[in-house]
Amino acid sequence: MLIVMRAQATEQDIAQVCARIQSLGFRAHVMPGAERTAVGITGNHGAVPAEEFEGLPGVAEAIPVSKPYKLVSREVKPDNTIVDVAGVQVGGAELALCAGPCAVESQEQILESARAVKAAGGQLLRGGAYKPRTSPYAFQGLGEEGLRYLAGARAETGLGIVTEAIDVETFDLVEEYADCIQIGARNMQNFSLLRRAGRARKPILLKRGMSSTLEEFLMAAEYILSEGNYQVILCERGVRTFADHTRNTLDLSVVPAVQRLSHLPIIVDPSHGTGKRDKVHPMALAAVAAGASGLIVEVHPNPDRALSDGYQSLFPDQFRELAGEARAISALLRSRAEARSQPAAVPA
Ligand code: PEP
Ligand code: MN
Repeated sequence: MLIVMRAQATEQDIAQVCARIQSLGFRAHVMPGAERTAVGITGNHGAVPAEEFEGLPGVAEAIPVSKPYKLVSREVKPDNTIVDVAGVQVGGAELALCAGPCAVESQEQILESARAVKAAGGQLLRGGAYKPRTSPYAFQGLGEEGLRYLAGARAETGLGIVTEAIDVETFDLVEEYADCIQIGARNMQNFSLLRRAGRARKPILLKRGMSSTLEEFLMAAEYILSEGNYQVILCERGVRTFADHTRNTLDLSVVPAVQRLSHLPIIVDPSHGTGKRDKVHPMALAAVAAGASGLIVEVHPNPDRALSDGYQSLFPDQFRELAGEARAISALLRSRAEARSQPAAVPA
């Protein structure tokens, strides 16, 4: 159920609707929009009676939400959500470029990476301090030491940092340092972690599970929003298929599909999406052309010596070239969209 308020509704009208929702034992989610505010309801297991709300002052209508996900849905919030990550507007007009190594390996490595990302025009630095690895014997990340190095790289370059939280136990620590907390593909359906992310005060980058459907992906995001954190960025990172010429199959068709159903921004990870350095550049450009709001790309100062994902990491020069071309495609699409939205010239 969604309560749509009239454009003239006052703060007091909205508060009264929220109070009624709470008195029924449910949770209210106020979603301000460009023209009017809507209030979403969660926590109900059956239909919510519309009559409870229709007579309240300021209420325009009470409409049932047809999808299993509610708060992530465009039915509830028609306007695009823009997520602010350390001043970078993800989902805004500009393409958001996030890059850096798979894992933080040392202070020098992350500083060198951060400088390269900055010099190439990247706006956010990625790097894992806690790594979810297939093998328990593989490098697991530097933990808090890695978080400290990331903070040092931020202090030097001004780049906001995106880093992964892999469990509830270390979430507080990651939240303390990160500007945006990544939930990885393997944890997309770790529901206790998603709920913890929903109580975080930082934006969340939620990666699509490696065999998840669009609905499962949006339901995972719904867990986060349902706990009160509306700052969620979705990320396509490839799914498992029979194809073996790439590590994963980058499902770019999910970008317009998400945009139709959800107001949340979606970015693309062509590094894990392909798993091969030579495929990263073309698929990154394709992602921008498909309408992605940003890219997250693995870049390493010395990929051949990387402790994880070196074979899919770009050299800094390759990232510089990619960033320039990605921005050019994005600017072209933006100027075409602006031209389409201009009123036609009146003939003299
Ligand atoms: C990563 O970003 O380094 C990572 C492990 O990604 P994913 O969860 O998409 O595999
Ligand atoms: Mn990686």
